[in-house]
Amino acid sequence: MSILKFIQKLLRIKGYRVVSFTFHNWCKELWLEVKPHKNGARCPKCNRRGKIIRTLEKPRIWRDVPVCGRLLFLIYCPREIQCRKHGRIQENIPWAAANARGTYRFEYSLLSYCSIMTQKAASELLKISTSTLSDMLHRTISRIREGHRIRGLTHIGIDEISYCKGGSMQLSFMT
Ligand SMILES: [Zn+2]
Repeated sequence: MSILKFIQKLLRIKGYRVVSFTFHNWCKELWLEVKPHKNGARCPKCNRRGKIIRTLEKPRIWRDVPVCGRLLFLIYCPREIQCRKHGRIQENIPWAAANARGTYRFEYSLLSYCSIMTQKAASELLKISTSTLSDMLHRTISRIREGHRIRGLTHIGIDEISYCKGGSMQLSFMT
């Protein structure tokens, strides 16, 4: 197995490949350049394949969890696609939420650490400043909450609840 395939397997990014790795800032940072494995790109809203219009010239950079004390960054030039339903849109990025600066893995670590330690301690482990951590934390929580919200729901009515066998439970939702 080549070193690039090994890194790709370690990162678990399906459909994309790592084409290069470079160390920066006196080896404190590891940059991984990612390219699509296949030609297909999906819409972030409906997950349907869209027609690729162009590849953005400016790469986007995502922070991933540190590896062996080194900062890890993924670098990728996203493609713009034409979705039948949503029109011109930037392709779905499988390792991160739209507009997020960190990977899902990084956000998971961020939330896990912040639930058991101070933000200052979490920022030291993740090697980011406390202000960046606070900003990313609030953005991540807001996004997750948004995803859980039932659109238009104002009241929840509960009718007939039984914990015994044969009992029934009925919930009614009013919007
Ligand atoms: Zn779509």
